[in-house]
Amino acid sequence: MASPPADLPRQFASRAELEAQLRELFPEAPGGLSPIRGGRQAAEQLRQAANPARYGRSRNFLDGAVTRLSPYIRHGVLSLAEVREAVFQKLRAGGGREAGEKLINELGWRDFWQRVWRQLGDGIWHNQEPLKTGHSPASYANELPADLAEARTGLACMDAFSQELVTTGWLHNHARMWMAAYVVHWRRVQWQAGARWFLQHLLDGDPASNNLSWQWVASSFSHKPYIFNRSNLERYAGSSLCARCDAAAKGTCPFDASYEALQERLFAPAAP
Ligand SMILES: Cc1cc2nc3c(=O)[nH]c(=O)nc-3n(C[C@H](O)[C@H](O)[C@H](O)COP(=O)(O)OP(=O)(O)OC[C@H]3O[C@@H](n4cnc5c(N)ncnc54)[C@H](O)[C@@H]3O)c2cc1C
Repeated sequence: MASPPADLPRQFASRAELEAQLRELFPEAPGGLSPIRGGRQAAEQLRQAANPARYGRSRNFLDGAVTRLSPYIRHGVLSLAEVREAVFQKLRAGGGREAGEKLINELGWRDFWQRVWRQLGDGIWHNQEPLKTGHSPASYANELPADLAEARTGLACMDAFSQELVTTGWLHNHARMWMAAYVVHWRRVQWQAGARWFLQHLLDGDPASNNLSWQWVASSFSHKPYIFNRSNLERYAGSSLCARCDAAAKGTCPFDASYEALQERLFAPAAP
């Protein structure tokens, strides 16, 4: 009988040695190491740096005070309860209940998605409700278009998010929402294709938070599809992406419209 393969090495003298070892083991994998460091020490530093009051005011902005704790929570390096206790401690030290409410709510979302997953099992890969887009599920493509995965859509925002996802393994929540909406509503691709792509790259990749969030954007787990427009993106991402975007310069940005115009463009009219 063949002997079982040896375990991967776990001790390295330096990060450069780790990178060299991975290159040797996985020559087909492009790019370098993610800047996100693993381990309890890195997790503790981020937990201590969390600022619930600033978080509440700025979490929707790409440069807002989000915690970046998700990879550590996902892999059990920090428990959700430990993060919750750290937030409560900070609130007791000053800042008041309201200042911490938003961060506690978000931790609650993670807990909620996990419970839904426990109930649904692999059912989280299926639409929980009919789509509210007016389009039949069969009209959505099964596969993620290559230009998206390769960051060459020609839209500076989507290409930047795609690149960030693949090279760092993490994306801000708002970028995840914009990207998911673009995939599902503008490109008419099944949310499952986008969800699989995210899970392939996210260091916090978690079937519950990921798939149920994709379903929320798609409208199979919410009462309406989530969409955004250029002014929403510029408000929360700043103007630098649009400033270097060819589509914006040519006047062909697909997000540059009012919500009413986008609704009409993207969704089929409701049956009379
Ligand atoms: C399309 C899409 C896919 C997503 N896929 C994942 C995924 O695979 N894994 C994952 O952990 N999160 C996922 N999320 C949720 C959220 O985007 C990330 O948890 C968050 O951006 C992680 O960054 P952070 O640690 O700085 O979060 P913070 O905003 O600082 O929040 C603190 C913690 O609360 C939890 N949390 C925050 N927002 C959410 C949320 N909306 N839903 C569930 N938990 C939340 C996370 O554990 C997070 O680490 C997804 C969201 C969308 C829209």
